[in-house]
Amino acid sequence: MTTSSDVLNRYLFEGLHARGELVQLDQSYKQIISNHNYPAAVSQLLGELMAATCLLTATLKFEGEISVQLQGDGPVKYAVINGDHQQQMRGVAKIDGELTGDSLNNLLGKANMIITIIPDKGERYQGIVALEGDSLSQCLEHYFSTSEQLDTKIWLFADAEQAKAGGSLLQVVPDSDDKEQQLNDFDHISQLTSTIKAEELFNLDANDLLYRLYHAEKVMMFEPQPVSFVCGCSEDKCLSAIANLGVDGIKEHLSEHQAFNMTCDFCLTQYRFDEATLSPLLTPKAQH
Ligand SMILES: [Zn+2]
Repeated sequence: MTTSSDVLNRYLFEGLHARGELVQLDQSYKQIISNHNYPAAVSQLLGELMAATCLLTATLKFEGEISVQLQGDGPVKYAVINGDHQQQMRGVAKIDGELTGDSLNNLLGKANMIITIIPDKGERYQGIVALEGDSLSQCLEHYFSTSEQLDTKIWLFADAEQAKAGGSLLQVVPDSDDKEQQLNDFDHISQLTSTIKAEELFNLDANDLLYRLYHAEKVMMFEPQPVSFVCGCSEDKCLSAIANLGVDGIKEHLSEHQAFNMTCDFCLTQYRFDEATLSPLLTPKAQH
């Protein structure tokens, strides 16, 4: 029995110059939105953004991290999902003001999508595309056609009430000189994929869904990859941020506030460090 949730599948189509990805999110998405009290439209946006980040992360050919951020002048100041090659995801949205509607434009106003790719080894890359039209998928397709010059199609779905999200990505495999054949294959698979429905993606096992979409094709699947919510915050990371203030800075803060109270933006974990717990930072290190 394979699970239909929190899993990313990648596959090839035998004899066709196209490859695909399918991501289905359940618990991991629930964890990203839980406790934040986001309006439904913002939870929805984060669900689509999370599916998009999973799909993008799976296109990386190296180990590293990716962050997909939407930034605008609307009531949603930003929404961001970070992920890595192990499909460990976290994300957050910041709202300031009243929502005037559910469309991307209502939420974000004039906005950009900023995609940052941070390889474990090598240089970071940042791509910025204006968020035009009313779908994240269009914006991402535009990003792929400009940054990677690869025909790409993306479908994204989220339902905040059910706390389910998911999506699919299709890409040309440019492995022959016959450009026309590649595009024909891609169009053919795109048409089949465009019949995908949110409810199927949320409820069907990946194998059943792929059979439903492509039963006349031979789909060759790679090993499924689990997707999880991993915040990555820790006491140690907080302490190293505090240490950066220097002894004087720490003392000043303590005299004003008695302690450092920190809340993780992503998972809302609260950390508290008082003078006693910070004493190792306040006493000069022994000289060796
Ligand atoms: Zn955290």
